[in-house]
Parts: sequence; C-alpha cells; structure tokens
Amino acid sequence: MPYFVDVILPLPLDKRFTYEVSEEEANFLKPGMRLAVPFGKSKIYTGIAANIHQTPPEVYEAKPIHQILDKVPLITSNQLKFWAWISSYYMCAEGDVLRAALPGAFLLESEGVIQLKNKEAFPNDDSLSDDEFVLLEALQRQSSLKIQEVMKVLDKKTVLPVINKLLEKDLVVLNQEIYEQYKPKKTRYIKLSGNFSKEAAMHELLDSLSRAPSQREIMLTYFSLTAKSRKPLKLKSLLKESKASPGTVKSLIDKGILEEFYQETDRVSFSGETTSKAIVFSEYQQKAFSEIEGHFKENKVCLLHGITSSGKTEIYIELLKEVLAGGKQALYLLPEIALTTQLIQRLQHYFGEKVLIYHSKYSVNERVEVYRKILEDPGSGHVIIGARSAVFLPFKNLGLVVVDEEHESSFKQYDPAPRYHARDAAVVLASFFNANLLLGSATPSLESYFNAQHHKYGLVELNRRYGDVLLPEIEIVDIKTKHKRKQMTGHFSDRLLEEIKTTLKEEEQVILFQNRRGFSPILECTTCGHSPQCPNCDVSLTYHSHNNQLRCHYCGYHIAMQQKCMACQSTEITTKGFGTEQIETELKALFPKNKIARMDQDTTRGKYAFDKIISAFENQEIDILVGTQMVTKGLDFRHVNLVGIMNADNLLNFPDFRAHERSFQLMLQVAGRAGRTKKRGKVLIQSYNPNHQIVQQVSTGDYFGMYKEQLEERYNYKYPPYYRIIRFTLRSRDFSTNNNAAEWLAKSLTNVFGDYVLGPEIPPIARIRNEYYKNILLKIPQQQSLEKTKTVTNKILSSFKSIGTFRSVRVVVNVDPI
Ligand code: ADP
Ligand code: ZN
Ligand code: ZN
Repeated sequence: MPYFVDVILPLPLDKRFTYEVSEEEANFLKPGMRLAVPFGKSKIYTGIAANIHQTPPEVYEAKPIHQILDKVPLITSNQLKFWAWISSYYMCAEGDVLRAALPGAFLLESEGVIQLKNKEAFPNDDSLSDDEFVLLEALQRQSSLKIQEVMKVLDKKTVLPVINKLLEKDLVVLNQEIYEQYKPKKTRYIKLSGNFSKEAAMHELLDSLSRAPSQREIMLTYFSLTAKSRKPLKLKSLLKESKASPGTVKSLIDKGILEEFYQETDRVSFSGETTSKAIVFSEYQQKAFSEIEGHFKENKVCLLHGITSSGKTEIYIELLKEVLAGGKQALYLLPEIALTTQLIQRLQHYFGEKVLIYHSKYSVNERVEVYRKILEDPGSGHVIIGARSAVFLPFKNLGLVVVDEEHESSFKQYDPAPRYHARDAAVVLASFFNANLLLGSATPSLESYFNAQHHKYGLVELNRRYGDVLLPEIEIVDIKTKHKRKQMTGHFSDRLLEEIKTTLKEEEQVILFQNRRGFSPILECTTCGHSPQCPNCDVSLTYHSHNNQLRCHYCGYHIAMQQKCMACQSTEITTKGFGTEQIETELKALFPKNKIARMDQDTTRGKYAFDKIISAFENQEIDILVGTQMVTKGLDFRHVNLVGIMNADNLLNFPDFRAHERSFQLMLQVAGRAGRTKKRGKVLIQSYNPNHQIVQQVSTGDYFGMYKEQLEERYNYKYPPYYRIIRFTLRSRDFSTNNNAAEWLAKSLTNVFGDYVLGPEIPPIARIRNEYYKNILLKIPQQQSLEKTKTVTNKILSSFKSIGTFRSVRVVVNVDPI
C-alpha cells in the first residue's frame, strides 16, 4: 500500500495537496516537518506536512515529494491547529496563514527574492519612477519580496525591468540574505582629565579658573553632578545643568581639563543590569492585581481598564514574573508602533536575557533565531514581546498572554490575507494552552468592554494615576468663535499659543497632534474651483512642501507643485485643510528659537527613524513634537506638560461606524501623554464643534458615557458588538464588470440572508491604482450560527469564482473588519 502526505503549500489554495511518499519516508515524517515539493510545471515550494495516511487523492494522481527538510517538526501540533482555526474563521487559505506565520527564510523556493540594500537610505523621490517608488516602499514594509509578490504589488506581469533598474541603481539586492547592519547610536560623554583627579589638584584647578567665571561654573556643576554617581556624564546633561554654551566646554577641552569621548548606546540589546528590586504597588495597583489573579483562578480572560499612567505596565511585569518563575513562556503583544526601545528596556530591566523580541522591522535572520529559541528551549521561560505576528510563534508551554493597548486597530491585519485580529486570535491561542490572558487599555474597544460587561471577560478598573498624579486638565477651544474674533494665527488659537509659550518658558515640552500628514490635502483654484486629482485613484493630491510636490497617498503618483491652475491657468490657488507639515512650518515661524520636530509616516521610514525621534524627545533635544497618531501610542515621556489637538473635527467626521469610538480613543490617549509626573498637565482641544458629545466626553474622561452612547448606536444600526460583520470588497480594472459582479454577489447573498446584506455600495474611495472598488456587507445576528453562515458564504463564493466573465474581479473577504 502506498503512503501519502497532505501538504500545506504557501499559496492561496482552497485545499491541502496530497503527495506520495515511500514507506521509509512515511515512517520518518511527522506533521509539522517541512518538505520540498514540486508544484505546477516546474516550480518547487517548501510546504508543511499536515498528516500522513494511505488514502490516495480522488481527482488527481499524487506526485512524489522531492525531499524532507527537517529532522524534527518545525511547526508544532498546536500551531497546525491554530492555522486551521485562523483559516476557517477568517475565511482564507491555510497557505496564506503559513506565509504570515513563518519567517520568510524558512520557505525558500525556486523563485527569486529581492530585498532593500539599505533600509535607512530612502533615495530622493524625484529620481524614481512611480513603480520604483511603490516597490521600494513595499520593501520597507515587508523586508523581502518574491518576484511573484512584486507582480502583485505593482499589479503587472512585466516587473523585471523595474527590478533591474533598482538593481542598477544599487538600491536592492537579489537572492541574498542580508544581515541587517546594526548601526549603534553614539552619545558624547565628558570626563575630567586624569591629571586633575586628586582632591588638591581639583582645588588648584578651580583657583586657576577664577578669572574665567563661566568655565569655573561648568567645573563646579561637573563636580556636583559626578559626586553623586560615578557614571560617565553626558555632554548634554552638563550643558543643561550648567546652562553653559558648547563653546565654553570646548575651551575646557582645549585646555586639557576636560576630555570628551563617545560611547555606543545600544538601542535594543540588553545592557547587562537587571534589578532584583521588587515593585512596590500602590494600594490601587495592589487591588487591581489581586482582582486579576482572582479572575485568572476562574479561568477567565481579563480586561484591565486602567487610565493612562495608572501603572498598568508594572502590573504586567509582576504577572510576567510569576509566569517566568514557573518556567513557562509569556507573550506580550503590542501594536507595531508602540513597540519601542522604551518599553523593551523597561522589561529587560526585570527579565534581562529572557526577553525576546519578534518584530517585522527585524531582519529575517533575527526572527529565525527567536523562532528557534522558542521552539527548542521552551522550558527556560521567555517573555516574547511582539507585534501581531508573534501569535504565530511555536509556543509549547504558554502561561500568559498580555495584549497591551488592546483597542488598537493595528492588531488587525488589513492586507494581505490572513486578515486576522491578533487580540481575538490570542484568545483562541491562550485557550489551547489553558493560559491566562490579560487585555489592557485606558480606552478599551467597545467589543472588549461589552464582553466584560456581559461577564464573558473579567473586568478590573484602575482609576488612579500612579503616585497620585492628577489627570491633565482638558480645555476645549471653540475655533469657530476664535476665527470670527480674529484670534487665530494660522491654525493656532490665542489660547493654544499662550499655553505653548508658558510651557516652553518652564522648560517643559509640547506635543501637537494632527491626524494628517503632508502640508495640505487639497489644492484649489479660487477662480474655477478645480483641484488636482490623482489620475489613478479617486482622491485629490496632497501638497508636500518639503519637496514641493503634489502626491497621492494611495499609489505614490506625484507631480511638481503647480503654480497655475491646470484647468484655467489662474494663479489664484489656495490650500484647503492642513497636515502636520503645515503645522511644523507655522511653528517654526512662531517659535524660531525652539527645536521643533515632526513625527509621521514621512519622517519615520528607516528601521531606527522612529526610535531616533523618540529618544531625542526623551532627552529633551526637541521642544515641540508635531505628529499624526504616532504620537498617541503608549509612550511615557517625563517632561510633556502640554498636549494640543489641532482639530478634533476631521477625526469625528470620518465616514465609518467606528469613527466616534476611535476619535475618543485617540484624543484620550494623546491627552494621556501630558503631565505624567507630579505637575498637572494641560490639554487643549481645538474644534469647530465644541459641543460634540465625543469632545465633551473626552474632556471629562467619561469612558463609560461614551461606551453607553456608542453602544446604543451600534444596537440601532446593527453593528458590532451586537452583529458580526463580513465585508466583501470587489475590485477590478473594468468598471462595469466589477459592478455586475458586485450585483451578482449581493443578490446571491440576499437570497439566503435577506435584509442582513447591505450594498453593493461605493466605498469613500471608489478607485485606487486604476481598480474600481465595491463593498458588500453581511451582518450576522448573535443567534445565527457563524459556522453555517461561513459555509453557505463559501459556497456562494466558489460559484462566483466559476463564472468566466467575473474572472478579472478579485473578491477580498474581511471577517470582523475594522
Ligand atoms: P500605564 O501603562 O498605565 O500608562 P505606566 O505603567 O507607564 O502607566 O506607569 C506610569 C509611570 O508610573 C511610569 O513611569 C512607571 O514607571 C511609574 N510607576 C507605575 N507603578 C509604579 C510602582 N509601583 N512603583 C514605581 N513606579 C511606578
Ligand atoms: Zn482654475
Ligand atoms: Zn493615486
């Protein structure tokens, strides 16, 4: 009797593929081992053995495998089970899950792979064609792309010329594993020259400087700073404390009194010092901690609703300690962007080398290393900090999962499949191991809070900031009136300017939040009303002042800024709306003496760019930081006393049923960056609608009020958490085929699900990269079986796929879209 193995291939196939193996191979093989198998005419793929059996496939003849690639399984049985769950719940191929689950290096195949030569260097946009730009951008996100994926990214078959151009320009490399170059950051330090280290010499030195008072002043500061700790002194600290100029320090160096030297400040790797000091909880933290443990005893997922700066992280650390002491593994999930050096160092402080980091910005090799460590050494108790894809690691004895900032929408993968939600998937993952799971947030998602209110999750509230620091005072500024009374300077109200001045005078820092990048999203001719649009997408082009370009944020298309209207040649052109760049420009004019920086997608492209801005801000090298929602993410800055929200309205007016919930979360999170130490912080919200209920709820920190009100709307309009949603997005280059296909699909779904089908409707952006979009929503009431719904839906989708005329239409299925 022949033997067979069912193989999961890294391709979007509906089914596993069956191959033939010899008896000897069958005896050796175990589920979870990798195999090299032939596929199609000439390709070879790395697949995963799922099960070994003796039933030949019915509709095709099984080909023999090429080779077994592992001696022991690389994928655990729990992982295989987890993949199957993701694939069925999120309605995607197991092959898609496989691709998301394993570091690319485990899946070498017969095709080429390209990577960026140097992640830091993003060349000047002007020298690149649109395709080159788009491809480079994609490579920055994904670290490596197969030729096939490049075809998808660029949406064309003939991609080799583009790749060749980039190879010529020495921007990418082909088929080569790059060991990402780690560039350590260097810090300038100051020390006393060896000649003066004796007590007597010190006095002599000070006497000799009696006629150079400012130099003497520096030396006195130096001695007082170094008296307390023997650590090397940062030049920056010396300058700050002595209020001296760099020139004075230089003359001391020239005289041979001080010496300067550089030391690497390692950003991620562990510095070697851990603390054995126990965390001393506040009374409120202690209470929250005990309540969490109580819920865990009852085997419940627990939601910790703790206001910003209430000391949630300390609670996580204490829980992690217990898990590690028991020799178990712990997973600490964070949104990609919040995964900063700041937090990593905080955890390393307690757990040293037991902290492992799994992050898409790390090289393939670094990720492979972490994967192997977790697989091969499960007993030594690691804390794995990672973004959403860390749920796919080969855990063997997981004891605890923490999902920090659980409300963050970036836990949901948007594109490509699997479109999974890491928080929800983590709940399933934890259940496989009987592990505890803690969700934490200052602004929980409605879904999680709903689950907690209905006793599906345990709920723990922590309403005090640590150290009795007060929550910031929130003031709403009505900019409609301010405009009328001419109390605006650019986009700044007189109130905001006043507060910025006060804060800067007190040598504290300011964060300004505006949820748009670029200078201005719309350029408009005042004569004829024309505004430049992207030729490939239905959006207007955003003006970027730093390179004087008009740019599409969806496809990368760009042209030079127009001095005349393209329609009527008029030179009367104005901008409408504003982004972070414009705020930065205005600030530089208003506060020429202060250091101003911007943090948005445009300024944080390289691997370390984000960390660089954050550490500069932390070291008070920046006075005012302007940014998009990047500035809202769980950061713990000590000197921010003022937060300004430039405009609350464009958040609130976003056409989405979650817009209000999101605005509340964003505003409260950014407000939470203010006044995290003794001094009470201040937040100013500028709005045209100061009476909007969300603005009011933010100003009083009324989470529960927001929750109740939004929940009622969700109930009335049949949205989550009362109804589940599956969204079908149809896209095609052919407008009418796409419409017909959408009509067909909506009708077929309506035949079964009736009124619970909405659409087809045109999404807010109807065309992207020359593809037309249509959406259909399927709402699933609580009492309706999810499984049956998905089975029926899958049947309809496979009939759809068999219709020849719809072949050019792609259907993207998104379960629980957010
Ligand atoms: P959250 O995560 O809730 O926003 P953090 O955990 O960042 O709050 O805590 C805010 C600040 O208070 C941090 O600087 C943290 O180090 C400090 N902190 C919190 N709890 C304690 C504690 N028990 N002992 C000492 N410092 C604490
Ligand atoms: Zn015009
Ligand atoms: Zn475009």
